Amino acid sequence: MTPLDGKAVSAAIRAELKERAERFFLAHGRRPGLAVVLIGEDPASEIYVRNKIRGCEETGVRSFTYRLPAAAPQEEAEALLARLAGENDVDGILLQLPLPAHLDERKLLSLIPREKDVDGFSAENVGRLALGERCMTACTPLGVMELLHRYRIPVAGKRAVVVGRSNVVGKPMALLLLAENATVTVCHSHTADLKEECRRADILVAAAGRAKLITADMVKEGAVVVDVGTNRDGAGKLCGDVDYESVKEKASYLSPVPGGVGPMTIAMLLSNTCLAAENRCK
Ligand code: NAD
Repeated sequence: MTPLDGKAVSAAIRAELKERAERFFLAHGRRPGLAVVLIGEDPASEIYVRNKIRGCEETGVRSFTYRLPAAAPQEEAEALLARLAGENDVDGILLQLPLPAHLDERKLLSLIPREKDVDGFSAENVGRLALGERCMTACTPLGVMELLHRYRIPVAGKRAVVVGRSNVVGKPMALLLLAENATVTVCHSHTADLKEECRRADILVAAAGRAKLITADMVKEGAVVVDVGTNRDGAGKLCGDVDYESVKEKASYLSPVPGGVGPMTIAMLLSNTCLAAENRCK
């Protein structure tokens, strides 16, 4: 089994992006800019935002952080996003989810212009992805595809199974695999026989958010297994959706948690920010 080393691959991508950001700076006299909006004090979000800002610093992308209190009214959040939408130095806007329950997530996401929507969560970008058009695409599924590409794993004609159908991971993941001509099955919490569905997969992407849901008996010999899950096990240790120790005996490729998809997600966010900056200056 070959581990899909997201840490190493993302380091290589960040080095490429550093050159890209530098080229942009030389051409336009400013750096690609990412605005991160954090509303409330969700501890996991704090960590994600910190990692994203660190990624920006490493690659020469300028970051702007905006914090609003958990009780911030909808109007205040809307006003901030509307302002960032018109800000020239801001190429990408990231609204960190989840939001406090009283806020209208759809409405707020709709205020991020398509060309600055580096998370690819707006209805317009999701629609374009479904239509097979060029668009900003969600960073985690994009990171999974990049990991497959960098390891030269063929996708066309393969049977791909995605476990999870969320708007941020499962659905865009399925659409990206479909766009590259895989035969795609999407499984979810109502799937009648998850084991049988998974056992047919040449490429299995686990994104259910259930610790060690995918065990060796659910994996075909030689399958490529990508673990998106980020969970805590009984002892509080970070673990994925895949039971790594047993599945590694059957898979041909397997991504670890941590050090697999996680670092790829941040690399893709920085990549989308550079792309947004280049597109805006065309
Ligand atoms: P979500 O809770 O929104 O969606 C989970 C999906 O899995 C749902 O569609 C649900 O139907 C399905 N599911 C749940 N239990 C299942 C089961 N027993 N069998 C089959 N399907 C089941 O979660 P999400 O936001 O899509 O995230 C999924 C996981 O990926 C989480 O662990 C999350 O932390 C992780 N994640 C990681 C990254 C990263 O960068 N590594 C990014 C985003 C999400």
